[in-house]
Amino acid sequence: MKVTIVTGGSRGIGAATARRLAEAGHAVAVGYRSDAGAAKTVVDQITGNGGRARAIAVETADAAQVEKLFAEAAETLGPVTGLVNNAGVGSRIGRFADLDEADLRRVVEVNVVGAILCAREAARQLKSGGAIVNVSSAAATLGSPFEYPHYAASKAALDALTLGLSKELGPEGIRVNTVSPGIIDTDFHGSQSGEPGRADRLGPNAPLGRAGQPDEVAAAIAWLLSDEASYVTGATIRVAGGR
Ligand code: NAP
Repeated sequence: MKVTIVTGGSRGIGAATARRLAEAGHAVAVGYRSDAGAAKTVVDQITGNGGRARAIAVETADAAQVEKLFAEAAETLGPVTGLVNNAGVGSRIGRFADLDEADLRRVVEVNVVGAILCAREAARQLKSGGAIVNVSSAAATLGSPFEYPHYAASKAALDALTLGLSKELGPEGIRVNTVSPGIIDTDFHGSQSGEPGRADRLGPNAPLGRAGQPDEVAAAIAWLLSDEASYVTGATIRVAGGR
């Protein structure tokens, strides 16, 4: 059985991915940082449909907690076969010169250090047939000027991680890929960027004329973790409505 850890699985893209993977037969470890109630809701939805899931608290920027996440997932669900490296933060958007140092550091700490720690633990635990999906952002190639270039830079670092790990872990039979969402309608914008209406403002700029939905990103992630993607590694699927 596939056992997949989804960091940031309590809300938004991660929650949609957890549900979708469960429908595809994965047992899912739903990682969350602070919102235990939201994580429990996702677990209850999965188990209510006959699936297997477990909510596990983790601060992904803390190596000891990441090791505990993987250990608890293995103990309760079975040997871990996949990681969706999804937990990420933005910060208040604004003119770059005015951005707050603590915000800049937190974005790098979670989006770069946290994702690297989770990927390292996956590299230690996964066996042949395992797979990692890094959830990056279209921002990595757009740059996010006047909003958060540091966030774009953090996601570009994640893209480089996919490149290196796909080459290093490929010979072990472990695939590593990226999904790069564009503007997706989640709480991210209100809670992170400080502009709850950001998806409505920017969505119409995409060639497809709207923001994306979490399920549309989850579909790409689930495919990359499926056996149908058995010869796909080092790839990026952009789910950004043409941006
Ligand atoms: P979201 O709705 O804000 O959800 C973020 C999730 O990450 C929550 O489950 C949160 O847990 C968790 N999390 C945050 N910091 C964490 C930490 N330090 N340790 C562990 N968990 C942490 O975000 P989203 O929109 O679904 O975004 C998911 C991913 O997609 C992120 O990497 C984001 O950068 C990327 N992305 C999003 C968009 C977009 O437009 N929404 C576009 C491109 C890329 P708690 O709720 O428990 O704190």
